[in-house]
Amino acid sequence: MVNEMEIKKQICEIGRRIYNRNMVAANDGNISVKLNDHEFLCTPTGVSKGFMTPEYICKVDENGDVIQANKGFKPSSEIKMHMRVYQKRPDIGSVVHAHPTFATAFAIAGIPLTQPIMPEAVIALGCVPIAEYGTPSTMEIPDNLEKYLPYFDAVLLENHGALTWSTDLLAAYHKMESLEFYAELLYKSKMLGGPKEFDKENIKKLYEIRRKFGLPGKHPANLCLNKDGENCHNCGSCGTAEYRNMPGYEYNFGCDCDRETASASQSSSGTGTDTALIAEIVRKVIAEMK
Ligand SMILES: [Zn+2]
Repeated sequence: MVNEMEIKKQICEIGRRIYNRNMVAANDGNISVKLNDHEFLCTPTGVSKGFMTPEYICKVDENGDVIQANKGFKPSSEIKMHMRVYQKRPDIGSVVHAHPTFATAFAIAGIPLTQPIMPEAVIALGCVPIAEYGTPSTMEIPDNLEKYLPYFDAVLLENHGALTWSTDLLAAYHKMESLEFYAELLYKSKMLGGPKEFDKENIKKLYEIRRKFGLPGKHPANLCLNKDGENCHNCGSCGTAEYRNMPGYEYNFGCDCDRETASASQSSSGTGTDTALIAEIVRKVIAEMK
């Protein structure tokens, strides 16, 4: 079924990408992949992620305890943070942690990535909140991360870096890339006098597109706790106070829960989308997320 060696090679390849793209310095960052409920592959501590070969990769169980590691290698000290994601999100197959320059600058400045400025970021990421600071390698990081897990697929870690997760390794990595690109554009547009944000109507259209294509993951476009996570219009008037306080979940589009629930989970042909441009962008985003 799963070819472990292939996955190890993939982890090394993604390690090279995050290193070469300035997303980590020296030995920073870590990557993990779920093989099954009790076995996970992860990068070792104390090595540059840009120069790994398959024998570097360690195997741990669901508690982060070592199942197999070659001599001289031990799992990342941040494995607890990865394990909390798998624990709380059974839909997740891979977690990526890095310190990309722009995203980390936002994490250090204490500014979450919540401004709706470009279709790809709104569709793919929604919003990226900041999980409160925790000392690396302690339980503080997983504990502070936990409350965001039901609502997001990416967070900034305060004064630290970024964490993304998705169905598989490539998708989790792409999320990190999209997050960093979004952070860079936001930073640069702030330098140019501040970004022009989408209005609520345009956000609503983008959310509708995301629902139509049935993209996996958690996103303000398709979570309504009153509907057991079924798609709805993120009406803003249902759900818990916690849910309504999460960035991106505040838009009140009027309660359409009942109307949307039935049809939204099947991806349709895209009829009714407003512009060809948005449809084209969505195709691109989906191709990247696959
Ligand atoms: Zn880190």
